[in-house]
Amino acid sequence: MASVIDIVSLYPKDMNIYGDSGNVLTIKRRLELYGYEPRVHAYNQGDDWPERVDMILGGGGQDTGQKKIIDDFYARADLLRGSAADGVPMLMICGLYQLFGEYFETIDGTRLDGIGVFGAYTIGRDVRMIGNLVERSDDFGQIVGYENHSGQTFLREGTRPLGRVEQEGRGNNGEDHTEGARVGNVIGTYMHGSLLPKNPAISDFLIRAAAERRYGGFAPQPTAEQQAELTRLDRFAQEARRVAITRPR
Ligand code: GLN
Repeated sequence: MASVIDIVSLYPKDMNIYGDSGNVLTIKRRLELYGYEPRVHAYNQGDDWPERVDMILGGGGQDTGQKKIIDDFYARADLLRGSAADGVPMLMICGLYQLFGEYFETIDGTRLDGIGVFGAYTIGRDVRMIGNLVERSDDFGQIVGYENHSGQTFLREGTRPLGRVEQEGRGNNGEDHTEGARVGNVIGTYMHGSLLPKNPAISDFLIRAAAERRYGGFAPQPTAEQQAELTRLDRFAQEARRVAITRPR
């Protein structure tokens, strides 16, 4: 029987834009191709938290979406912080990335406290940063995604960015060329697009971390057919990256 991996899709109703749900589909498909049995738990406000959680995937949302989930998010803050400290791999995009920081001051002056997993804070500004984004990461090489946000995020001294962008006026805040953040197995980023179909290295990092944590190792043995499908998906990813890199938006 295949080994189960339990994945939480965090607030898919209100925090899921620009194709973020593609990240969940990608993890699910890759896990199957590696011979695991993925179980996806959609968690929205008021739902029961699943008994077992091996990975958490969260998407972006407008300021209004962030306000809708915030009370429930605070109720789950200890659990999320504890899971992060305990090595559960997580990917938090844009709106949830902001709320995994210390606070987000929206453009209308509302302050939403974050849960402080990342030493970072965000200020809403009237200039939106929009477009395809390429960054260099020590951990994952070149990452290709798509950003669309007005919040500008500043990392505290000692907080590690996910990567560095070359383009001016892009990334976390348009000023310091950082993008995203990483602490332990938790990745925060502005990259939508969706991120994971275009960046198999990040998908595999999350999968490996989940499998090692739950089963003590990750040694997939795909059948020839599964391997052929993985190769095909990697070719698609390469093509999507190539196209995205050549287009500003
Ligand atoms: N509301 C946030 C911003 O614009 C997040 C947007 C998003 O998730 N794309 O900064």
